[in-house]
Amino acid sequence: MSERLRLDPIRCDAHGVCAELFPEGISLDDWGYPILRAGPIPADLLEHARRAVFACPALALKLVDDR
Ligand code: SF4
Repeated sequence: MSERLRLDPIRCDAHGVCAELFPEGISLDDWGYPILRAGPIPADLLEHARRAVFACPALALKLVDDR
């Protein structure tokens, strides 16, 4: 099973913590809101992606089944 990131833009407060913890999959736009890498997260980066999800203070990030 592969997973990808999903952002809830209503919850996101542009803290930017996620991009610091998972720069391979998340960059920030000019206002500090995340731009997520498209598609499934490679297996060797999943741990970093999970760290970003758990660290988001607004609970705005999720890992979801990539189907
Ligand atoms: S850490 Fe959460 S609230 Fe902050 S930019 Fe990332 S998704 Fe948005």
